[in-house]
Amino acid sequence: MTKTGIKIEDVHLSFGETEVLKGVNLDIKPGEFFAFLGPSGSGKSTLLRAIAGFGPDPRGRILIGDRNVVGQSPWKRNVGMVFQSYALWPHMSVRENVGFGLKERKLPNAQIRPKVDAALDLVGLAHLADRMPNQLSGGQQQRIALARTIVVEPEVLLLDEPLSNLDASLRVQMRRELLKLQRKLGLTTIFVTHDQEEANTTSDRMAVLDGGVIQQIGTPQELYDTPANLFVANFLGTAN
Ligand code: ADP
Ligand code: MG
Repeated sequence: MTKTGIKIEDVHLSFGETEVLKGVNLDIKPGEFFAFLGPSGSGKSTLLRAIAGFGPDPRGRILIGDRNVVGQSPWKRNVGMVFQSYALWPHMSVRENVGFGLKERKLPNAQIRPKVDAALDLVGLAHLADRMPNQLSGGQQQRIALARTIVVEPEVLLLDEPLSNLDASLRVQMRRELLKLQRKLGLTTIFVTHDQEEANTTSDRMAVLDGGVIQQIGTPQELYDTPANLFVANFLGTAN
């Protein structure tokens, strides 16, 4: 599979009078596991949604591979997104939930089935294909949401606090699984979190956001060793 990088060039985005993204620049490498880390309200979701094409178009450029996707409809961008509230369709079985996107793309049933099986296998839940969502635990539901996203073979994977509804020990387990899956697929991934430990243990590199501005970009080690400013130091808990 060819891997796709993401470039964000001078992105500004306002809601009414309020500027929420204030000139963001980023260069995410093909195959990288990249985290957006920052406190609530710092603009992480807004930036991720701008990449996915949900919400208003920003100023600036967002390149997925070599395509500027600003202004493109979400389904043309070939991104997969998983949200904090992973809402599976309650009236559909696991198999139907995962296969839904393929069905929408008018793939014949004979081709949908093996793809769904493969995606379920990747998240370790092939044996639950015929269950209904309300017969699954939170962790299982989130794995199904992930399977539903990767089954359509997106070029990039966008994860907005996907684990924050899970209890603490499951969260730790799931982030290991997520990283393993990302490595296996080699899928360029952006993982949004307000939890520094979560960003630290998963990401190749991360960007720390505050007030719609990137405060620092680097590997977890670089940020811990040499925080660029007091905000980063405080947020990572390295100030003393
Ligand atoms: P984060 O994901 O880091 O918690 P968000 O990107 O959700 O932050 O929000 C950043 C800022 O933008 C917040 O001040 C929030 O209130 C504001 N905001 C987000 N979405 C909207 C919207 N649809 N309309 C108006 N303001 C918004
Ligand atoms: Mg958010």
